[in-house]
Amino acid sequence: MLGGYAGRFLWVDLSTGKMKVETPDDSLLRDFVGGYGVAARVLYSRQPAGLDPLAPGSIFGFFTGPLTGTPAPTGTRWGVFGKSPLTGTWGDANGSGNFGVAMKQSGFDMIFFTGQAEKPVYLFLRDGQAELRDASHLWGMDTYAVEDWVKAEFGPKAEVACIGPAGEKQSRIAGVITLKGRAAARSGLGAAMGAKKVKAVVAFLEGEVPVADPEAVQAARKKYVGEINAGVGFSDFYRTTGTPGATALCIELGDSPTRNWAISTIHMPRGSAPLRFEELVKYRKERENCWRCPIACWGTVEMEWEGERFWAHQPEYETESMFGSNLLIDDHVTLAKVNDICNRAGLDTISTGAAVAFAFDCFEQGLITVQDTGGLELCWGDRRAAVRLTEMIARREGIGDLLADGVMRAAERIGPAAVPLAMHVGGQEVPAHDPRCEPAMAVIYQMDATPGRHTQASQYYVAAGFPTQRPAYGDNRAQQRGRGKWVKEASCLCHVVNASGLCLFGYLSTSVSFMPDFLTAVTGHTYTLQDVLTVGERIANVRQAFNVREGINPLQRPLPDRILGRPPLPDGPTAGVTVEVEAMIQEHLREMGWTLDAAIPTEETLRRLGLHDIADDLWRR
Ligand code: SF4
Repeated sequence: MLGGYAGRFLWVDLSTGKMKVETPDDSLLRDFVGGYGVAARVLYSRQPAGLDPLAPGSIFGFFTGPLTGTPAPTGTRWGVFGKSPLTGTWGDANGSGNFGVAMKQSGFDMIFFTGQAEKPVYLFLRDGQAELRDASHLWGMDTYAVEDWVKAEFGPKAEVACIGPAGEKQSRIAGVITLKGRAAARSGLGAAMGAKKVKAVVAFLEGEVPVADPEAVQAARKKYVGEINAGVGFSDFYRTTGTPGATALCIELGDSPTRNWAISTIHMPRGSAPLRFEELVKYRKERENCWRCPIACWGTVEMEWEGERFWAHQPEYETESMFGSNLLIDDHVTLAKVNDICNRAGLDTISTGAAVAFAFDCFEQGLITVQDTGGLELCWGDRRAAVRLTEMIARREGIGDLLADGVMRAAERIGPAAVPLAMHVGGQEVPAHDPRCEPAMAVIYQMDATPGRHTQASQYYVAAGFPTQRPAYGDNRAQQRGRGKWVKEASCLCHVVNASGLCLFGYLSTSVSFMPDFLTAVTGHTYTLQDVLTVGERIANVRQAFNVREGINPLQRPLPDRILGRPPLPDGPTAGVTVEVEAMIQEHLREMGWTLDAAIPTEETLRRLGLHDIADDLWRR
């Protein structure tokens, strides 16, 4: 048995209430390093194509990776997986906090839910035992109330991941929340959990995760905590400000979407100054960290909205940008307020911010009116309108019901003139890094198996020293062509980081050798850096094969013209830039060994990675 794993997968049939525990093969864990790598491999084998992600037959689950809950600094991550209700593709989302560690310490690496419960339930995990319990009294509660109930009922060692009212109402932009604000939000998987009537999973921080070589693990921890403290990569940034420290900088760089991606950041009415971190930290209540993390990148704030004091997680960069420059709003109080509404309801702040900006744009263009909005005037920069509309989305109230399933579906219902205003790729709202500022983002947004994701590679990772070798073009974000090899390498590394239970911020704060060093010391199987890259490639191919079998061709789901600079912006830091996305994607496909017209992994690629059954499936039947 490999170290770092509990060695137990829990299968829960919600229709019958029956549960069983499976012991995974070492080869599965070794070749896919747990997490969403294993999840994609298992679902490819056990879930037929063509299922409705919200139907009882679809599998939805939770994952941890081999580094979750080990001494690997930032080894805190957990996530959810399944077919995405938002995009119909492979779906996964990654969260931080303590929940993943508790899930592993309670005795389970992965949870696979099948079927559908008759009435709301929560899953209780402790000391290797699992029990489905009635959650009727929790249904309808927001995520803060669930967290409070769990702590009061089970004590401080209990951790919970839950959905809020948005997931219960199967909003396709709903996520799963822990600690009142750490979110596994993307892919709309909160809706899949809601469809199964699973309100929460409760687990306990008790015990230790066994590792193969404790001395080597401690030596590696000493080395990489030392790197974090010495300022390697982006560690100083994460330790001093965390991601909201990027808000003002990204406005200055032209990286933040502005007025629903239509104009340059130089048109922010008061520039970047009001959104500096120094303005946010005035409201700081606590600096916080996930389980034993030496970086401690996040925190909580306390402030006042319209005469009422409220406590909230400090908004992360993505939230600040999607609701900030994207709506021409430039005060941290409003941004913390919408963050709080989303966290309570269990909404993805990226998708919700995009939905609010889309509605503002439609209103300006006369495609919706005050008759549709219940009297709300949706004018750029209007803080109250943004807060009110976010509340309406959280409750599926009025036009909020339309927006709660994302901008693609909302545009289809409003009409053809709304379609170009919907900033999504494949149904998922595009996050807050502008490809006109960093063109490789366009490749990843379009080509990753879960489209519209910013955590799967970018030029910013080059700046952090992320790749195995520095590319010839260095840190030059303006370079568009000639990046295929590097984009592949970075995305493969990201897959291993995300799947193994490591926080991407930790990896961006250490040397690239972190991953093979820790995977070897923790699991007892020897990984070289090349092995790590191969594992990442295997994960990318299984996720992509899942989509191929669903009949999805990513080349047929282009990014909106506006995001690609068609036409280019006339002013600002990215003036004149048009992203040559088609050429960059062709380079990427060649590097990946996928067909150039449909992005299907070739038979040769699949067999090289040992995925023979998938090769037979895609090429021999
Ligand atoms: S870097 Fe931040 S998000 Fe990542 S594990 Fe540490 S505290 Fe959590």
